[in-house]
Amino acid sequence: MNISEKVSYLKGLAEGLALDAESKEGKLISVIIDILDDIALEIDDMQEEQCDLEDGLDAVSDDLADLESLVYEEEDDEEEEDEECYETVCPNCEEAIYFDDSILEEGEVICPNCGEKLEFDLSDLANEEKEEE
Ligand SMILES: [Zn+2]
Repeated sequence: MNISEKVSYLKGLAEGLALDAESKEGKLISVIIDILDDIALEIDDMQEEQCDLEDGLDAVSDDLADLESLVYEEEDDEEEEDEECYETVCPNCEEAIYFDDSILEEGEVICPNCGEKLEFDLSDLANEEKEEE
């Protein structure tokens, strides 16, 4: 039983009591039932509105998910590029040095082994990358 149905049931019970509508108790109960009736109707309306809102939200949520997948796909691509790791050998101490794109952009890296500053020729590295693919 939903609230409307319960109120209807209550109305039936009250009628069964054959209350004197002019008595104080009769008036009180009749007013209480009217108020419950109004509340039940308002809740029905609100539930209907809520359904409409949920439908609207679902539509917005779907659109947002589409946008998110577009945006995050792009971000993922960028992250993959950022995480790309390179290896070179220090010409001074001949130790392998590992570095990523952010260092590549700076064009130089300090060898963690001997402290020698290595400079990159960005065009050479870009070409190497293409040959690997
Ligand atoms: Zn070195």
